[in-house]
Amino acid sequence: MMSGCKHFDVAIVGCGPTGATLALLLAHYGVRTIIIDKALDIYPLPRAVHFDDETMRIFQNAGVAETLEPYLHVNAGMRFLDQKEELLLDWPRPQEVTSQGWHASYRVHQPDLEKILRHRISETSSIEMYLGAVVDAIKDEGDQVHFRIHDVALKTPQAFSADYLVGCDGANSFVRQILDQEMEDFGFQQRWLVIDVILKSDMPQLGEYTLQYCDPQYPMTYCRNPGLRRRWEMAISDDLSDEAAQDHNRIWSILSKWITSDIAEIERTAVYQFRSRVARRWRSGRVLIAGDAAHLTPPFMGQGMCAGIRDVANLGWKLASCLARGHDDILLSSYEAERRPHVTEFIEMAVKLGELICSENPKQALESFGSANVSDSAMKSLSPALGESSLTEAMGHSQPLIGTLFGQPALRNGRKTDDIFPYQAILYSSVPLKESLFHVVSERESLQIGKMLESLKSDSVLIRPDRYILKLCYQRGETLELAMDQNIRNWFV
Ligand SMILES: Cc1cc2nc3c(=O)[nH]c(=O)nc-3n(C[C@H](O)[C@H](O)[C@H](O)COP(=O)(O)OP(=O)(O)OC[C@H]3O[C@@H](n4cnc5c(N)ncnc54)[C@H](O)[C@@H]3O)c2cc1C
Repeated sequence: MMSGCKHFDVAIVGCGPTGATLALLLAHYGVRTIIIDKALDIYPLPRAVHFDDETMRIFQNAGVAETLEPYLHVNAGMRFLDQKEELLLDWPRPQEVTSQGWHASYRVHQPDLEKILRHRISETSSIEMYLGAVVDAIKDEGDQVHFRIHDVALKTPQAFSADYLVGCDGANSFVRQILDQEMEDFGFQQRWLVIDVILKSDMPQLGEYTLQYCDPQYPMTYCRNPGLRRRWEMAISDDLSDEAAQDHNRIWSILSKWITSDIAEIERTAVYQFRSRVARRWRSGRVLIAGDAAHLTPPFMGQGMCAGIRDVANLGWKLASCLARGHDDILLSSYEAERRPHVTEFIEMAVKLGELICSENPKQALESFGSANVSDSAMKSLSPALGESSLTEAMGHSQPLIGTLFGQPALRNGRKTDDIFPYQAILYSSVPLKESLFHVVSERESLQIGKMLESLKSDSVLIRPDRYILKLCYQRGETLELAMDQNIRNWFV
């Protein structure tokens, strides 16, 4: 490939939710980014309808939460019903704001989210967005990555280079091929039909809950989406063609139990293979993958996109650090080490739920769930710790809370802490510090932080830009030392 081409700090291949969020997070550090997508418009078919509080907090850090909020619907929860439509398993979601500073669970229309992300990108001067262009060649030269873009309309190849290239290019990732095409397979693979419907007027009788019909003959899902949007998903057999499955007469006859064509219209339909896979390798040198390029999950927990958003929250500050202080192989290796086990836990749970929904004997299938996940027919939300990495190791394994997600204390003036220090490391301390290399928030600014530290029996806690705990200090002396620790400070920009 040509030399002397235009150079960026980071190139992101794919402007879906994962890539777009990464670009916005990097913008906090003034990283010069190019984000390329082969499509001119956002993906038109039905996909994500749910995300959680941690994901909303990352959107807050990316600067889009306030714009997004009016488009969301707070989710009541999910219920799994047996063939007689009796409750098998309940997954209620708290209606109050959680420790993350947001609601536990939101319903969303993915195109609304993607429009907001792209609009924010268009307003951000450090990001160049290139749509309608395919990245079709990548070469890691050791100290930078060269890549080629084919403009779909102009059909002209152009060469670019970047310090790092991140493939956020979805399930059929081209970038993944550069690393290792192999993915670990968790065994769940099924064909499902997804139908998005818009009601002509509200129908409260359809209910607020997501319903999973665990009927071995007709496994099905109902989702209460924002506004008048509703979704039905159903497993379909391999002998039914995509076209026959999406025939509107057939669909109306299946949905007739709930709605008819005079009270609702079909907005869009799609047939998908739901899969459960994790890439074996997430990085090679300066080329990395994130989002669906790195992992695929059946959508029963509504966590596929959430996982991609967590990936880039984990990765973005590490890339910014490498750009500011020089390439750090150990820091970058922590990305896969931390994220892979975390997302695997969600995928394994989603596979179990998929098996429950499709099981000949749902009650028996439910028994395979451990008591940590399900007790008294109620399911708990997952919040695993990050996998062990060079970072968690350096902080000492003896602290079990290292690598777990920390809350977002409100400030005394009513603002959220992440709005003051978006995507920055923060040292939460019981009392103010005279000197610190980190941003400090103490009980003086936030009453809540005092209570949070008290419940952890600690004097201070250092959280990373992705809001996971890096270190806890139990004594004042330790806090004073940590506040001036240049080695730890060097991990952050
Ligand atoms: C039916 C269904 C329901 C779902 N429900 C949920 C849910 O409720 N909650 C949830 O969290 N997740 C859900 N998901 C998953 C979620 O939609 C995906 O995880 C998410 O869209 C992945 O985002 P991404 O940015 O990683 O990839 P994508 O959104 O696939 O974006 C990849 C982008 O890369 C571009 N691209 C690809 N190759 C190239 C190339 N060579 N050059 C340039 N551009 C390229 C593509 O055009 C595309 O825009 C669901 C998925 C399905 C199918």
